[in-house]
Amino acid sequence: MYIYIAGYARSGTTLTSAILSSMLDAVDLGETNNLWRALLLDGDCGCGRPLKQCPVWMGRLHDLGAKLSLEALGGVGGLHVLSMNATAFRRMASPASMRARSSYAEVVEALARIAISDSQAKAIVDESKTPGMLPVLARMRMASRVFHLVRDPVAVAASESRGYAGEPGMYAYVPSERSRLRSHLGWHVNNRGVQLIAERLSVPYQRMSWESVTRQPRESFVRICEWIGLPYSTVRWMDERVYDLPPAHNPAGNPNRMRVGPVTVKHQDVGRASGLEAVSRVAAGSLRRESHD
Ligand SMILES: [Zn+2]
Repeated sequence: MYIYIAGYARSGTTLTSAILSSMLDAVDLGETNNLWRALLLDGDCGCGRPLKQCPVWMGRLHDLGAKLSLEALGGVGGLHVLSMNATAFRRMASPASMRARSSYAEVVEALARIAISDSQAKAIVDESKTPGMLPVLARMRMASRVFHLVRDPVAVAASESRGYAGEPGMYAYVPSERSRLRSHLGWHVNNRGVQLIAERLSVPYQRMSWESVTRQPRESFVRICEWIGLPYSTVRWMDERVYDLPPAHNPAGNPNRMRVGPVTVKHQDVGRASGLEAVSRVAAGSLRRESHD
C-alpha cells in the first residue's frame, strides 16, 4: 500500500510520516519528489550517511536501474510539475505533463515495490506533500491512501518566516525570501489543490488538523492507523505525547527526518491574528475541519 502524506510546509508532515511509518512497520520513503534532487546534490540519508554511501539506497537505486533516467522522470519539466505552484497548475493538463506523469508513476511505483520487498514491509509512506503527486498516484497499480495534514496558516507563516538552516543548497529557508503573504498564498494553493484533486480522483482521503493531532497525539495516530487499515503497534509510545523514534533511511526532506529517540509531540494551538492573516485563517476554515470519507 502507498500511503501519501499531503499538506504544506511546516505542518507536521515530517514527524507524522516518521511516527506513522514506525507504527505501521512501513518504509519511510521521505519526500520522493525531492529524492532525485537529493541524489544530484549529494544529500544525506536519514541514517546519517551521505545518500550515495547508504547501502539501503544504493541497493534500491541499483535495482531500479534501467528505469532511472531523466527521461523516465519526466524530464526537467516533469519534475517541475511535481513541485506544485501556480504555473504547474496550468501545465498539469498539457499532453507533455500527462506523459511525464505516466512515466514518473512507473518509476515511483517500481521504487515503492523494491523498498517494500527489501524491507519486507506491507506499505511505504511518501511525504512529498505536493498535490502534484496525486495524479501520479492515481496512475499506479497499488492501493493508496492520502492523509492530508492541515496546520493553521498563521502558525505556518510564522514558522516559515523564522527560516531554518538545512543542508547546503537544499532545504535552507531564508526568511527574507519568503514573506508571510507568500506563505499564505502557498498554503491556500497547496491545501486547496490537495483537497480538490483528491476528491476528483476519488482516492481514499482523510484530512486532520495538526492542532487536533497534537491535542492527543497517541490517540490521534491510532485513529489514523485504523483509518489506513493496516496492523499497527503502539509499543514505541512512551506516554500520550512522547514517541521513541527508530532510525530510518528517509532520503530527502526536512532535516528533522534525522531525529532518533524520544520525541515529544508538543501541543500546538492557534494564536491571535489580525489583518490579512485573520482573513486567510477564515478562508482556511472549511479545510481545517476533519474530513469523513
Ligand atoms: Zn540510509
